[in-house]
Amino acid sequence: MHGRQRAVAGAACGLAAVLLLATAGPPAAGPGGFVVRGARVFDGTRMLGVSDVLASGGKIAAVGRDLSVPPGTEVVAGAGRTLLPGLIDAHAHSLGDTLRDALVFGVTTELDMFADARWAAKVKADQAAGGRLDEADLRSAGTVATVPGGHGTEYGFPIPTLTRPEEAQAWVDARIAEGSDYIKIIVEDGKVLGRSFPTLDRATVAALVAAAHRRGKLAVVHATTLAAARMAIDAGADGLEHLFVDQLPDPGFGRFVAAHHAFVVPTLSVLKDVAGEGAGAALVRDPRLAPYLDPDNAANLELRYPERPGKTAIYAPAPAAVRQLAAAGARILAGTDAPNSFRLLGRRTLAHATEPDSIAAAIAAIRRSEAFGEDPNCRPKSTANGSGKMSSCPASMPSRIANATSRGEVFGSASSRAMSVSTGPA
Ligand SMILES: [Zn+2]
Repeated sequence: MHGRQRAVAGAACGLAAVLLLATAGPPAAGPGGFVVRGARVFDGTRMLGVSDVLASGGKIAAVGRDLSVPPGTEVVAGAGRTLLPGLIDAHAHSLGDTLRDALVFGVTTELDMFADARWAAKVKADQAAGGRLDEADLRSAGTVATVPGGHGTEYGFPIPTLTRPEEAQAWVDARIAEGSDYIKIIVEDGKVLGRSFPTLDRATVAALVAAAHRRGKLAVVHATTLAAARMAIDAGADGLEHLFVDQLPDPGFGRFVAAHHAFVVPTLSVLKDVAGEGAGAALVRDPRLAPYLDPDNAANLELRYPERPGKTAIYAPAPAAVRQLAAAGARILAGTDAPNSFRLLGRRTLAHATEPDSIAAAIAAIRRSEAFGEDPNCRPKSTANGSGKMSSCPASMPSRIANATSRGEVFGSASSRAMSVSTGPA
């Protein structure tokens, strides 16, 4: 399918997901379908203006003004609202209600980066069978690759670990058997965080990457220092999870990543927290978001990353690296690390996932010239039943991020229920 058509398809399907929160049940799938009348439509690349979108059989059948639709088609009033592709959160952790929370904020696919593999497998099976329509679609790394006592082992449940390159293929194969969609590798000695962890060596990281690639899976690496990030890319990693907080990037870092065709999920908001500059409390007071935060999420957003003796993390390297990556044309994916439950920091919305200035630079590099307009008419709207969970009104920043996130295609096939952001122009 042509790229733009796919983008439009993503747009309406994303809306379908959001609408589920506002209506008694899902819009009729199959031949009857549904039509959204009179919404402003953003197709993932550009604003199409006020249009109708007809969905039928789970796909976009038509986009245009005053569409004629088959008799019996359910009509959804879209006037005053904006329809856009569902967002992909490219770094999340899934448990409990997080997938439902994600959908409240317009995130229709969560790329989990460490979850209970059995739980993730169950959720994905339910979703593949057509269930859990009130949740974001899940893709999961399952268990992370780490050494005994390494980062990832401190949460009180057993983790299968490895230490040598010769163990890599069996470890990866076991994850794939559990249902991992991609392989997440931890390179973290903890020093910059005021902690101390043993960690995988370069040879084992390279062997894990190779083992994943041998099975057709992507391999992404958690790294929070420049040296670790460079090592991961040099070892063949497809992507970096986080950016570094130990030192400013060397002048060639962005070009280095771009030359290796790797992508980066900066997770800037969580790095800001780690560096002691978190702004979650301000989010709680933001009138655009407050209606959608339940008390637990609001309380979690007020929490702070623990200060520890010896912690030296600074935030400045991360946005500096994003600017370099953008200038070099590297792919940047929006990810939140929400809810980062292990630290109980709370759900990070995509609006807070990225610093406006740095992500704007990234978008500028990706889109070069296209402007994404503010929408002064956009305000949170309550649902008919007063649950306040209807989120049809994205601010401009999520739209920008939607565009950046559309590069999420690197994670391969999108949602089994076609609700993810789709590709940009072919
Ligand atoms: Zn994470």
